[in-house]
Amino acid sequence: MGVMPLLDVPTIYVLMLSVMVLLGALTLFAWLQNRAVRALAWWGGAVLVMAVALGLLCLRGTIPDACSVDLAYVVLFTACALMLEGARCFEGRRASPVLLLAGAVVWIAACQVPALYESATARMIIVSLAVGLYSLGCAYVLWRGRAEPLLSRWPLIVLTALGGGLFLLRIPLAVVYPLAEAPVASFDALRSLWFAVVSAFTLLYFIAINYLFLALTKERSELAHKRAAMTDALTGLANRRAFMEFAEQRLNARASGTVAFLLFDLDRFKSINDGHGHAMGDRVLRLFAQTLSATLPRGSIAGRIGGEEFAAIVTGPDQKATLAAAEHVRESFAVVAGVVDGVLVAATVSVGLAHADSGPAGIETLCERADKALYTAKALGRNRVECAVDGFVPLVPDAAADLLLPASGQTQRATKRAAA
Ligand code: GH3
Ligand code: MG
Ligand code: MG
Repeated sequence: MGVMPLLDVPTIYVLMLSVMVLLGALTLFAWLQNRAVRALAWWGGAVLVMAVALGLLCLRGTIPDACSVDLAYVVLFTACALMLEGARCFEGRRASPVLLLAGAVVWIAACQVPALYESATARMIIVSLAVGLYSLGCAYVLWRGRAEPLLSRWPLIVLTALGGGLFLLRIPLAVVYPLAEAPVASFDALRSLWFAVVSAFTLLYFIAINYLFLALTKERSELAHKRAAMTDALTGLANRRAFMEFAEQRLNARASGTVAFLLFDLDRFKSINDGHGHAMGDRVLRLFAQTLSATLPRGSIAGRIGGEEFAAIVTGPDQKATLAAAEHVRESFAVVAGVVDGVLVAATVSVGLAHADSGPAGIETLCERADKALYTAKALGRNRVECAVDGFVPLVPDAAADLLLPASGQTQRATKRAAA
């Protein structure tokens, strides 16, 4: 029992074309819902144009060859080209008119050469070459964008590469085993079960590819939302939630050496806002984020965990190294934030540091220990690094507690003393 007794060939074609038109229309609908994803328009268009091409091919032997062969392949190659343009668009490349027209132009040119047009083998080679190259092109474009971690990318690369490879494989086969040379019109697609089966497989292939294309765009937008939810919009650093999550992972995965939790709080930031305006405040916050990224050792994790509060996880061979890293950030910031855009801002930062190997090491506890050390740094005059030692934080001397008040003559002197 084959397909034949259940479904006759024309029924298979009608079903196939209906499914393809529906598929193309749904993809275009997905594009209408989100016009920014222009690749969907290319892909939806590709499926609809492919439906037209298959419709013409199915009518071979019924309608004139000029339509069922000459025109059909122009349309088919255009559909393949639209798919490639869709992949290029998805990867942020501009549409290429050359690629779009290449297949169709080559075919029209070949049709003018009787020796090629009348040879079934030559026709098959041209068709296989065009479809194969377009399909491989698609795989290549998606492969080049592989740095973007989208899972659906991989089955799509495999499918388009496999499809393209199979078409190209037909070429050496056709050379070794040439097709029976028969006049173009002697083939009647409406009676060819073989052609119907090939078409049905083409349809399955298209359903799979189309599904994966849609999944790809969905994945990308989900990834963008996820990134946005984890990023601080002003500085581009991880926000509090993301930082704590990353920091915890890093703590759990630590091997040799030491891990330090660094807590940063910009000094007298309110007065920067008050004195130079909120925009300058924002500028200084961005400057600090840049300083963090530029000066922390490679592999560190940094985030903005509050208004003018930042944190980092730094690993190093020993506590001296992590302390030096904190000092480096503090010093660098004092240099770059001295004069900002020609304005004397003199912004500085205080740092509290807690080591995971010298006291309780849960992320929250580490943060608390670093916070106490930071409080000490503030009390001792700001623009300095203080370290929580063995879970013990030196008590703030009574005299130093006064320094927490807005700068007075006494604080100025004490700050100078602390800095000395
Ligand atoms: P201290 O040295 O003791 O840390 O003093 P401070 O002025 O930095 O501390 P305080 O907590 O009093 O002030 C923090 C200020 O940071 C208050 C708030 O207006 C400002 N701030 C918080 N978030 C932002 C922001 O996104 N942009 C700007 N420009 N300012 C912010
Ligand atoms: Mg603060
Ligand atoms: Mg502050």
